[in-house]
Amino acid sequence: MKILVPVKRVVDANVKVRVKADGSGVELANVKMAINPFDEIAMEEAVRLKEAGKATEVIAVSCGVTACQDVLRTSLGIGADRGALVETDVELQPLAVARLLAAIAQQEMPQLIILGKQAIDDDCNQTGQMLAALLDWPQATFASAIRLEDDKAIVTRDVDGGSETVQLTLPAVITADLRLNEPRFVSLPNLMKAKKKPLQTIAAATLDVDIAPRWRTLKISEPSVRQAGVIVRDAGELLQRLRQETNVL
Ligand code: AMP
Repeated sequence: MKILVPVKRVVDANVKVRVKADGSGVELANVKMAINPFDEIAMEEAVRLKEAGKATEVIAVSCGVTACQDVLRTSLGIGADRGALVETDVELQPLAVARLLAAIAQQEMPQLIILGKQAIDDDCNQTGQMLAALLDWPQATFASAIRLEDDKAIVTRDVDGGSETVQLTLPAVITADLRLNEPRFVSLPNLMKAKKKPLQTIAAATLDVDIAPRWRTLKISEPSVRQAGVIVRDAGELLQRLRQETNVL
């Protein structure tokens, strides 16, 4: 069974993101980039399924500029068998990514696609859902556990107030939540070995899908600065200050 894992290149989660002076976007020049953390979890899960004998091949796919090869190399270091870069300079929005991934899925015919639940740069949380809709496959989002049995995936999902377990008939789309697993540390020797694994480049234009942006960013701004808090001695002082300083009581 083949598992496809889409991985996005985003600003490293440890970097403090800065807004460009003209408010047109965030500063990306000389900023450390990394694999989207939820995609690392998705990749770890796919590799664990392969190690458990439940899958035969794990394929990492990234859509975007040439530099996205670095997140494919990280994926190969985790244990993916091969990588594919769907290359384009067009600014990709979730519908465009979902269309590109659907085209790749139709070529590769995987039984399972595991995405991250969301990309930490746009926080859209849309691509997996759109991809399932385009392929007309069942989907389970926010997975915290995945079990494969014959032609079924049994998925526990994080939902408000607890968890829910659903059964999907394969092929299916699953999106990974934080609690699914803790990704392994990718050692330098494994990264070096990964250099020998196949990494294919596919020009997005050859997939014949409409990837034109559907929305335009008007402005990006820093969050407003929060005023410092005040520590009160006890509930009595709190009530007194609320009476004095607000109209609440
Ligand atoms: P989003 O809907 O943008 O929050 O992204 C959800 C998931 O879709 C990510 O965690 C990735 O698994 C996948 N994804 C989004 N953008 C890309 C991309 N450019 N290349 C590959 N996978 C992507």
